[in-house]
Amino acid sequence: MDFEGKYNIKSPAVKRLMREACELKEPTEEYWAHPLDDNLFEWHFTVQGPPATDFEGGVYHGRILLPAEYPMKPPNIILITPNGRFETNKKICLSISGHHPETWQPSWSIRTALLALIAFMPTPGNGTIGSLDYTPEERQMLARKSQMLECPSCGKVVEQLSSSVSKPPTQEESSLIRQIALKAEEQPVEEEGENEEEQQPSEDKPVRQRLGVSQHLQPQSQLQHATVGVVSSTSDSYKNWLMWFLVAVIIFLIYRRLFLV
Ligand SMILES: [Zn+2]
Repeated sequence: MDFEGKYNIKSPAVKRLMREACELKEPTEEYWAHPLDDNLFEWHFTVQGPPATDFEGGVYHGRILLPAEYPMKPPNIILITPNGRFETNKKICLSISGHHPETWQPSWSIRTALLALIAFMPTPGNGTIGSLDYTPEERQMLARKSQMLECPSCGKVVEQLSSSVSKPPTQEESSLIRQIALKAEEQPVEEEGENEEEQQPSEDKPVRQRLGVSQHLQPQSQLQHATVGVVSSTSDSYKNWLMWFLVAVIIFLIYRRLFLV
């Protein structure tokens, strides 16, 4: 991986990601994470299912998408391996649970995110977005099946983890990991065809997305207003007619009563 020529190494995100790539170079028995050869802003990872849980023996592969503003903005995790706890191919966001649900700390890292993911797997889904509440049997079956998974970019997933023990979480890390909550985003991840674009940490993508959305929505909402306008003016004139008709009937009845009886 030689990113030096490709990226501006003065950018805080690039500097930080290159440092993390260096720190995570050696796989451990718990996790493995690597940037793609041609994109520092997309990583693939594998984590081990936590022992003594339904995920024991499972190896779970996924993608980490890093925003251009990393580490000021959090990474998104996408699980590829079916696991029975998180929906696959859906962005999972990390946040601190409790009082500040949307907080991400720049001092957290990809390692923190992976440790949090491992710790969070056995917790109950409780119906949050992106959670799956599969039975223990189904999860154990998926854990066994997960060892067969092969990733087109990384190869056989089960061979990525090493037998070396990872450095134990520091006290700060453990307290963080206990507080972290994971929740999927409401929007599903775009189809593979669009990933090429997504891999580039370009700034115009969100702009284009916003434009796309507004272009798409505007005519529709105008149409809706127009339709509502037509409906309301039709019903107004109908009411007027009805009122005048009733007045006419009443006048006719009064007239008949007074003069024709
Ligand atoms: Zn992969």
